[in-house]
Amino acid sequence: MPSVCIECGNERMGYPVREDYVIDAIRKVKSALGVAKNNTLVVCQGCADLRKQKREKFEQRFVQYGAVAVIAFLLLVLVPVFFGGGKNLVDMIKTAIMAAVLALVVILFALLSYSPAYEPGKTVGRDGVGGMATSKEPGEKPVHAQKKPAPKPTKAGKRRK
Ligand SMILES: [Zn+2]
Repeated sequence: MPSVCIECGNERMGYPVREDYVIDAIRKVKSALGVAKNNTLVVCQGCADLRKQKREKFEQRFVQYGAVAVIAFLLLVLVPVFFGGGKNLVDMIKTAIMAAVLALVVILFALLSYSPAYEPGKTVGRDGVGGMATSKEPGEKPVHAQKKPAPKPTKAGKRRK
């Protein structure tokens, strides 16, 4: 099983990517679509700093969105109560469900900028090309070309008005 850097897409030795539920979900979607490669996901040493920054940015954003989701949920559920609603339990439950869905959508938005964490300290895998981590083969394609499998059709079709 080759180990591939999630940042530059090269076959490298590196820090293992933490397997969380998002990675797990992506894997499941990919194997369902038949495009799973079952590579070991790593972050190579050259990309580690960049990865760390991206991860921190994502975590910040996730906390912010999470706070927005919680506040929005509470407002939607509690405000009607203050205005004399809340006598009807069924209505309250309906509102709570709607608010929960809304909160979930906000959190899903935060996940669009998802960036996986990695485990520093240990390295796994091996380098793909001759065991050299730094050398670039002359015929090597630019890394960006091999990178994105483009699984998100959501914004692709959007055009500026
Ligand atoms: Zn890399």
